Amino acid sequence: MTERPDGDFSIDTLLAAVAVGAGGAVVPPIVQTSLFSFDNYKAFEDRMAGRSDDPLYTRVQNPTVAAFENMVAGAEEGEAAVGFASGMAAISSTVLALVKPGDRIACVEHVYPDAYRFFERLLRPFGVDVSYHPVDDFENDPDLLAGVKIAYLESPNTVVFQAMNLPKVAAHAKRHGALTVIDNSWATPVFQRPLTLGVDIVLHSASKYLSGHSDTVAGVVVANAELIGRIRDLSLSLLGGKLAPFEAFLLTRGLRTLGARMRQHQSTADRFVDNLSAHALVRNVLSPGPNSVPGLTGRSGLLSVELDESVSIPDFADALKLFRLGVSWGGFESLVLPAQIALNQAGEENSLQHFGVSGRIVRLSLGLEDPRDLWADFDAALNLSANRK
Ligand SMILES: *Cc1c(COP(=O)(O)O)cnc(C)c1O
Repeated sequence: MTERPDGDFSIDTLLAAVAVGAGGAVVPPIVQTSLFSFDNYKAFEDRMAGRSDDPLYTRVQNPTVAAFENMVAGAEEGEAAVGFASGMAAISSTVLALVKPGDRIACVEHVYPDAYRFFERLLRPFGVDVSYHPVDDFENDPDLLAGVKIAYLESPNTVVFQAMNLPKVAAHAKRHGALTVIDNSWATPVFQRPLTLGVDIVLHSASKYLSGHSDTVAGVVVANAELIGRIRDLSLSLLGGKLAPFEAFLLTRGLRTLGARMRQHQSTADRFVDNLSAHALVRNVLSPGPNSVPGLTGRSGLLSVELDESVSIPDFADALKLFRLGVSWGGFESLVLPAQIALNQAGEENSLQHFGVSGRIVRLSLGLEDPRDLWADFDAALNLSANRK
C-alpha cells in the first residue's frame, strides 16, 4: 500500500507523500481485521513456509500499521520499523529481544523514569546487569563500553536535557561490539537522525511529537532489516505489544504535519530560552540548542527551568492560565510539570530521586499556542508567585 517515494527527498516531502489506496484515496484505510484469509491451500502454505509475506494476523502484521512504520522508517533513514502499543512496549520489547542473563547494559543517567524502572524492577532480577553513567563518561571514556551488550541512550535525556555527541559514542560502541539504542522522542527525525550518526537502533514514544495531538499512546523502533526482523519476531510475536490499526491511522495523520509542528515548537522555545535566560526569577535554563552537539539541528518545545528560591512553585503553577498541569508532552497544548511533584511520587525510588534532580526544576512542554500569549502567561505567573522582600 504505502510505498516510500523513490528519490532523495526531505522529511517534509516524505511525510506528505500520498499513500494511493483504492479509488485514488490519498489516506491509508484503517484495516480493522484480526486475520487475513487465503484463497487457496497453496497461498496459505506459501505464507506459513515463509515464501510470501502476505499479512496473516494483526498481532504481527497489519497494512495500516505498516503505513505508519514505513513513514517513520523513511523519516529516520532506516531500512525498517516496527510499531508498538506504547513507547514503553517499544523499549522493553527491543531490549528483551537483544539480551540474555549475564549481559550488561550501560545506560545514560537521567533516563526516562519508566525505562529506569524496567531495568531495575524487571531486567535486573532476570540476571541482566545495568549500570548508569553520565553523558561525559560515554563521550570521554573510550573503554566504558568494553564488555557491554547494549548502550542505552537518550539524547537529550529526561528533565535535565543533557545532549550527547552521538557520532563519538557510536564509534566507541562499534569498537567494543556494543549495540547502541537511542530514545529519539525529544528531537524527532526532524532535528536528529541517529542512524545517520552511527547509532544502531532508534526508538520513540510516538505518544509525543510523532502523534502531536495528545490522543494516542504508541511506540516505534527503527533499525536495519535484520535487527527489526529479530525484534518483530521475538518481541512483537511473543510479548504481543502490538500497535492497533486505529492508533496507527491517527499516527499517520499526525506525522503529515511533524515538520511544520516542530518548526513552530522550535520558534516558541527559542523565544522562551531568550526571555528565561534574562529573567530575574530564573536560575538556569536547560535546553540544548541547535548544533550544541554534532547532528542535532533544532530545539524542540520541551525544556526545563530552575526557578529562584523566592518563587513558590505551587503558587506559580496555580497562577498559570494557559499552561495546564500534567505528565506527557509533545502535543498541541502547553503543559508544566514541577519536578517536586515527581520527586514526591508514591512507590519505590524513582529515577528523579536516584539521579538527584533539583526540586526547583519545572519542565515545560511548549505547545502550538501563540508564543506571545504563552510568554505573557508564564511571566505573569512567575511575578505573582515570587516572595519579594
Ligand atoms: C513518554 C516517554 C516514554 C514512554 O512512552 P509511552 O508512549 O508513554 O509508553 C519513553 N521515553 C521518553 C523520553 C518519554 O518521554
